[in-house]
Amino acid sequence: MVDPDMASKSMAGTTEVDVLIVGGGLAGLTLANALRGSRLAVLVIDSQPIPQPVVTAVAECQGYALASGRSPRVSAINLASEALLQRLGAWPADPGSSCAFTGMRVWDGRGTAAIEFNSDLTSTDHLGSIVENQVLTASLYQQALTLEDTQLRFDSSLASVVADGTGYRVQLQDGSEIRCQLLVGADGGASQVRELAQIKTLEWSYQQEALVTTIKTELPHQGIARQCFTATGPLAFLPLPNPQLCSVVWSAASTEALLALDDQALCQLLARASESVLGKVSGVDRRFSFPLRQRHALRYVKGGLALIGDAAHTIHPLAGQGANLGFADAHALALVLQQCRFNETSPGDLAVLQRYESSRRAANLLMTATMEGLKRIFDSGDPTVSWVRNLGVSMLDSRGTLKAMVARLAAGN
Ligand SMILES: Cc1cc2nc3c(=O)[nH]c(=O)nc-3n(C[C@H](O)[C@H](O)[C@H](O)COP(=O)(O)OP(=O)(O)OC[C@H]3O[C@@H](n4cnc5c(N)ncnc54)[C@H](O)[C@@H]3O)c2cc1C
Repeated sequence: MVDPDMASKSMAGTTEVDVLIVGGGLAGLTLANALRGSRLAVLVIDSQPIPQPVVTAVAECQGYALASGRSPRVSAINLASEALLQRLGAWPADPGSSCAFTGMRVWDGRGTAAIEFNSDLTSTDHLGSIVENQVLTASLYQQALTLEDTQLRFDSSLASVVADGTGYRVQLQDGSEIRCQLLVGADGGASQVRELAQIKTLEWSYQQEALVTTIKTELPHQGIARQCFTATGPLAFLPLPNPQLCSVVWSAASTEALLALDDQALCQLLARASESVLGKVSGVDRRFSFPLRQRHALRYVKGGLALIGDAAHTIHPLAGQGANLGFADAHALALVLQQCRFNETSPGDLAVLQRYESSRRAANLLMTATMEGLKRIFDSGDPTVSWVRNLGVSMLDSRGTLKAMVARLAAGN
């Protein structure tokens, strides 16, 4: 696994840490923060520049071209993740940087079925919050700066990894070397750590891409997250702090045609596809496209190594749960590692790491299977499946207890 060229350039000395986290995204930075008080020396590296706080500008429309002043990637953060980030002191301080949603409305654009959830079902004042990924990452980073035993190195990429007794010896692209007892892969869906550790994945493409953008609508969103199952795939309107701005995630076999439309045509198409649920769409911001893959690592741990977040699993964004699973992984791994220093156990100890894996695998697989099932049911154009789908959703909508259970599951409780 080690690249001989890099090995010979290792002159900068070796940094020794207990835990090296590769990937300072949502999962990696959450783990670093959750290790506060563990007395473990932690280093986080990330190939990207330091996450900067978002400077929100006022939304402006010129014709149908919207400059929303928001960054395009957002996540629906469930109540469990929100509570975790608050406990870690990493929940964004500015209330204007997130939008708490109090209701969810999901409906079948090709049928009659619709289901609505509101926060009464969970006896909470909201169901979750929509937050820009950049806002969360910057807030987690700022909080991690206050940690005593934690170093953060951005603009630093992994070059090679070699197993070394009970831990790993890692070389970075700049030639520096790190020796750690535990190497954590928090480096996203295309995880290099997972690949270098030769951990296989079960994966397939959903044969879909997600179009992501921000829109301005005629009617205010009223703090409701909406999702319509259209013929091409699920179309989500996620409420942003400005009552007339929504983040859009639209899954389709290919986003090429959507990307090629002019702004006016896309606005009109979005209004039609959403059954004008928020009236006319009067502006659309820059568009981005993401390929969608389902991927699950066959194992999350080896001696001296653990995978968390998208490095361990990626799922369809249709229920907005990917980042939430990553927060739960980070929390679960931190819980088992918190005891290591006190029990005089190495954080790379396989028995310790297996406790993390067994606490998370079933929940992650359940969510993956649920997303797969939902996607298949709502993708089907078969009239029988469509009839059963409408019946099932209507029944769910009318059964208070079952509906409350689903709402609690989505909230991460
Ligand atoms: C369209 C779309 C919409 C989504 N919506 C939601 C939602 O509403 N709610 C939700 O919960 N989830 C959602 N998700 C999923 C969510 O975005 C991901 O699950 C989450 O961002 C994964 O976080 P992570 O930290 O595991 O990985 P990432 O965010 O991918 O972070 C990985 C980090 O590792 C760094 N890195 C990578 N390789 C290296 C290397 N070799 N060396 C050093 N650093 C490296 C990267 O720079 C990055 O900072 C959505 C996903 C998509 C595609």
